[in-house]
Amino acid sequence: MKKMALLLILLTLSLGSCAKPSPYRDIHFFAMDTFAEVRVYTSDTSANEALIVGKSVAEDLENKISTTKEESDTYAFNHGAAQEYSEDFTELLRLSLELSKFTDGAFDMTSGALIELWTSCEAEGRLPTDDELSVALSNAGYTGVQISDDTVTKQNPGLLLDFGAIGKGYAADRMAESLRESGVSCGMISFVSSVTVFGDKDFKIGIRKPDTSGELFGYVSLRDRSLSVSGDYERFYEIGGVRYPHILDPKNGMPIANGIHSVVVLADSGAMADALSTAVFVMGIEKAATLYRNAELSFEFLCMTDDGAVASDGFLAYFEPSVKGEQPLSLSQYISER
Ligand code: AMP
Ligand code: MG
Repeated sequence: MKKMALLLILLTLSLGSCAKPSPYRDIHFFAMDTFAEVRVYTSDTSANEALIVGKSVAEDLENKISTTKEESDTYAFNHGAAQEYSEDFTELLRLSLELSKFTDGAFDMTSGALIELWTSCEAEGRLPTDDELSVALSNAGYTGVQISDDTVTKQNPGLLLDFGAIGKGYAADRMAESLRESGVSCGMISFVSSVTVFGDKDFKIGIRKPDTSGELFGYVSLRDRSLSVSGDYERFYEIGGVRYPHILDPKNGMPIANGIHSVVVLADSGAMADALSTAVFVMGIEKAATLYRNAELSFEFLCMTDDGAVASDGFLAYFEPSVKGEQPLSLSQYISER
């Protein structure tokens, strides 16, 4: 899959919005297949230790959930090696299963066989055949995973997990937890497309336009919350000169082509924001609006499409356009005009 690292770095900008800049300590590293930045707002030197522990939480988690590291739990699960799974892996799988059910499979962490198929087809410079797609689809589907107590099983040996759509948000949650345990009261964790902030401070996050211009569409103010972006412009499969989004529809195995180019979700946890930004991208605005009204889990979202931007009212309350007057359409207005 092609990646444009430079653009990724600019996907979100995190800026403290205090009138007076506050002192902070930070750490930068590469994890979860992207750049990570952690800031803690304190001048206390003991925070350096907290940052190092936080970094090790991300690295440790990556070693457990990576699809490619042979020592990971995900690798063992995918390749049928019988083993005891770590608590982190089981907890992430349980959460992923809940979010798959909540989104009626628009987010589906069992899409691994489909992802492998598209990745190998890209390397061969061709599209998957219908037969290949139906085999991969038969090896996918969250209902094929069972968790009871601490035992995790799959119905179909060909089922492959991939936590690419939730791992960064989940890692940010775990790091925030670790930083708090180390005594840090305010901070920010950014995996570029997934940002979690905690503590008594507003953060202003820049939202890029879903193109290669690098221009900002606007800003979101974030406090004690998480934000995640899913876009079709920075990661994609390129086959025969055509770019296909890296987000797949688990129902038919095809890359999503519904006119949406970017989705931003605000939620109370990083894992939820991450999984839901992927899910809303798959669902499209109407289905996402139905999910939004279902009060079971609360979230806010913005969709940037070919025809303009649409945002839930709770998103608009925290949004400021970069060009005055260029406000996204509210979801209620969008629905009533259709
Ligand atoms: P994100 O950038 O968070 O939207 O996640 C996209 C990544 O998640 C892709 O690169 C795939 O690894 C994986 N993925 C693609 N489509 C789906 C889907 N519908 N549900 C879950 N994971 C997906
Ligand atoms: Mg995601």
